Amino acid sequence: MQDLTDGVARFQRDVFPAKAELFAHLATHHTPHTLFIGCSDARVVPELITGAEPGDLFVIRTAGNLVPAYGLEADGVAASIEYAVAALGVAEIVVCGHSGCGAMTALAEGHDLSGAPAIATWLRHADARSTAAGDVPALVRQNVLAQLANLATHPSVARALAEERLLLHGWVYDIATGRVEDLTGAGHVLAA
Ligand code: ZN
Repeated sequence: MQDLTDGVARFQRDVFPAKAELFAHLATHHTPHTLFIGCSDARVVPELITGAEPGDLFVIRTAGNLVPAYGLEADGVAASIEYAVAALGVAEIVVCGHSGCGAMTALAEGHDLSGAPAIATWLRHADARSTAAGDVPALVRQNVLAQLANLATHPSVARALAEERLLLHGWVYDIATGRVEDLTGAGHVLAA
């Protein structure tokens, strides 16, 4: 905890004054251009990877960067998507998977999740059916594409897509190299 309180002190002393104008603007403006849906994994930091400033990204992070398909029961992920798309009007959505994902590893390697019922239930939102057992990188990619499909079942997203005011992107971030692969842009690498 001391690390965090030291960090807050450093932020207030060094970071905040350097961006004081930006923060003053952000106090009354919330206009992110992108909804970034990533994994909760501590090593995948959306703003760091993309060089985004405060205010740029509306972020949802879930275990395995999973986006459940739209359902009638209210949930936090669906509400956050609806808010980003319908209320804030983001123009882009990125679903970002990553190397070494614990959630995808558990699925690909068939880990026993009987002692972790919440995880077992949550991971049902991944689509692991057609991936070779044990192939984690393949499942990470396939899962990103499956989550883009789930995303499109949300009415706010479907409406924005139909009106051509929203673009969906699937990325995979490699922790060891920092590279980002764009699965939806002919598979080309965004950054080396
Ligand atoms: Zn992960």
